[in-house]
Order: sequence, then structure tokens, then C-alpha cells
Amino acid sequence: MKLVKAKKYLGQHFLNNNNMAEKITNFLSYNNYQHLLEIGPGMGILTKHILNKDIDFHLIEIDSESVLYLNEKFPDLKKNIIEGDFLKFDLVNHFKNKVAIIGNFPYNISSQILFRVWENHDKVNEVVGMFQKEVADRVLSLKGRKRGILSVLIQAFFDIEHCLDLEPNYFSPPPKVQSTVIKITRNNRVSLECSKKLFKQIVKSAYNQRRKTLRNALKSYNLETRPIIEPLLQLRAEQLSVDDFIKITQNAEKA
Ligand code: SAH
Repeated sequence: MKLVKAKKYLGQHFLNNNNMAEKITNFLSYNNYQHLLEIGPGMGILTKHILNKDIDFHLIEIDSESVLYLNEKFPDLKKNIIEGDFLKFDLVNHFKNKVAIIGNFPYNISSQILFRVWENHDKVNEVVGMFQKEVADRVLSLKGRKRGILSVLIQAFFDIEHCLDLEPNYFSPPPKVQSTVIKITRNNRVSLECSKKLFKQIVKSAYNQRRKTLRNALKSYNLETRPIIEPLLQLRAEQLSVDDFIKITQNAEKA
């Protein structure tokens, strides 16, 4: 079979080590979900280690050259190979039950993949994904300067575990950055107990002005007259926990 030529604009860095590929797929728990979706299977180095598992397995790949390759290599999966852009894919309607996601993700869209996981927290129960190390560190970070919007959003509904770090030479062509596999598991928070949309807006406003105290960063939300959150308003975004942001959002709803 003719190998797929790596295309930079699609973030194609193919894993070149089969043992490592197997190790990564072994982080899947096959627990609490009925469907599994691989994003960006490329030439299927992860795919082949999942193929024989007892799970409803689907692939989504944007590159038509890769799709041709996959159809030929995995004829049994053919009806589950979707040619398309994950960011435009209707996850909720495509899968009836809970789903897990795996992938050596294209780094140019990895944050957007995580935003979609956040949006679909009711549907997605697990993610095992390869990220640029910096993004993984941010999602893992519980405190301090590495924390960002995505850390708070994802941590609100998921537990995050570090799985593996990979040097660039595990990929062809090698990326310019270090890579990290993390595992994201749905936690037991049923709901935020405040508007999810407003929560996201407030987290964004706070982090977009991260040097300011929340009193200043969140001025437009009319929070200042509420003594219960007064101590929080003296802090900066990166000092707040998920629960602190929930408290602020609940107050903004009442304001
Ligand atoms: N899993 C393979 C390939 C990883 S490279 C391996 O480990 O070797 C990232 C893959 O994501 C590429 O195959 C690329 O074509 C695909 N991709 C890029 N953008 C995508 C998108 N928006 N939706 C689905 N797949 C995408």
C-alpha cells in the first residue's frame, strides 16, 4: 500500500513506533461508554490496536488520501470511517450512547477538540489524547500560572491524568515540540449548578485579563455588592478553583 504523504497544514505527524502506539491505546478503559471515536487516524497505527476490541469503533479523518488508505487497510471498518472535519462533526446525534475519544491529535486544533469535549460533557466519558506538551500541562495544571481557560473548563467535568511524554523522534516527520498523552475521565459532577454558558464567559473574562483582580476583570457582571464573594474578587483568575468560579457565576446570575 502506498504510504500517505505527510501534510503539514493538516498537522500530520505520524507515530512511527508500534510499541508506543499499543501503549497509548492501552490507556483506554472501555468502561462506561458504548462507542469509541478516533480523531485523525492517519495510517491507522493506533487503530490497529483497537480494531479487535469489543466496542462500536468509528474513525473520523479529514484527509482523503488517508481515508483511501484506511479503507483499504481496514475493510471491516469501512462503514465506520467518516471522511470529514471533527470540528464540524455532530457528535451528539451520531452516537446514541456515551462515547470515548482517542487520537494522536492534530496540534493545530487540539484546543478546539477540548472545547468540544467541554461542550459535550454529557456525551463524552473519556478521552485518551496526544497533545503538544504545553497544552497537556495546561489542562493538567491545578494551580498557578500554567492554568488557563481550558484548565478550568475541562477540570469542571473531568479528572485528568498524565500518561506519557514523547520525544519528537517518535513521529515522522518529527514535530518541533514535545508531546504528552493525557487521559481525561468524566468526573461525578452532575451539573455546574449555574449556567454553563455564563460560567464559560466569566472564566474567559477573568483569564483574558489575568493580571487584574477579579473585581476589575469582572466589572461588567455587577458582582461588587455581594459580600459572599468579596474575598474572591480580590484574587486573580489563576488563584481560583472551579468551585470558586461556580460561586461567582451563581452570584452573577442573581445580580
Ligand atoms: N493517528 C495517526 C495520525 C496523527 S497526525 C498517527 O498517530 O500516526 C493527525 C491526523 O489528524 C492526520 O491524519 C490528519 O489528517 C488528521 N486531521 C487533521 N485535522 C483534522 C480534522 N479537523 N478532523 C479530523 N482529522 C483531522
